Amino acid sequence: MSEFDLIRRHFNRPAPNALLGIGDDAALFQVSAGNVSAISTDMLVSGTHFFPDADPFLLGHKTLAVNLSDLAAMGAVPRWATLAIALPQADDVWLERFSAGFFALAQQHGVDLIGGDTTRGPLNLCVSIIGEVPPQLALRRDGAREGDDIWVSGELGDAALGLAHLQGKVALPQAELATCLTALHAPVPRIALGLALRGIARSAIDISDGLLADLGHILVRSQVAARIVFDDLPLSKTLRDSGQSKLALSGGDDYELCFTAAVENRVNIEHIAAELQLPLTRIGTIVAGTGCVVHDVNGHTINIEGNGYDHFN
Ligand code: ADP
Ligand code: MG
Repeated sequence: MSEFDLIRRHFNRPAPNALLGIGDDAALFQVSAGNVSAISTDMLVSGTHFFPDADPFLLGHKTLAVNLSDLAAMGAVPRWATLAIALPQADDVWLERFSAGFFALAQQHGVDLIGGDTTRGPLNLCVSIIGEVPPQLALRRDGAREGDDIWVSGELGDAALGLAHLQGKVALPQAELATCLTALHAPVPRIALGLALRGIARSAIDISDGLLADLGHILVRSQVAARIVFDDLPLSKTLRDSGQSKLALSGGDDYELCFTAAVENRVNIEHIAAELQLPLTRIGTIVAGTGCVVHDVNGHTINIEGNGYDHFN
């Protein structure tokens, strides 16, 4: 199979959002009136982000999901994507499954694949995602203010617990393992939440490297500090029972949103949670200063060492 057969067979699909999709030297598209484009790139490397024998369908899903998650955290509508892929060999069965996982999620969100690059090499998957958002409504990291509530969506730590099992650090029972592996391999990008939070959240980020690490980016960019109540964190029963609850602070790969909002917006946010059928939990407060303090309900500070994933540390 030639490179071009491979692209035609596995990646060339209609691109109704674009003026020109796959097949030329560049794709052409137009952003809707009143919007600017939001672009983000995320790469998944074999051996670093996934095991070399990972299920290709789930890998296709996750490659796009982690990118969609960045646009969710920006309050943007995802529209176009490019895919750069390095493959050790042209394995038709693998590519069929990978593209099926990728396009299933792309279709759900109305995203067109409009270009990319294909080379031989160690398995490496890199998506650039492009979306649109009215510039004044983009959910940035630099908008948090003293007094804001800090919120997170969904439940934290299950993906990291699943990874800990695969690494032999914990041993989960079958049913619990299945839940945690779904969280790890099939994250749900919170696009609808990002859109609902336009004009409500003052800052937002997606949790890819762990709550403390990612909230830390909001704090630095906004020049504020945070107090988190550990007992208020939304943990699954599985995580509570595992004795690894601290993974909710440091574990990566959750792809939930962490955001801050004025106290006046509590009721609005509760309505959003009900409408989206997605738990939204208040976990702390933005305060003056720098850094983040985690304490329990009694006000005792909890020691937080190792605060998220860093590729070079
Ligand atoms: P060029 O030589 O100009 O870089 P390529 O031969 O790499 O173009 O690619 C041919 C066309 O196929 C281009 O439109 C490119 O965007 C698209 N393409 C290549 N690889 C992929 C891929 N993995 N997914 C989607 N589109 C791809
Ligand atoms: Mg090329």
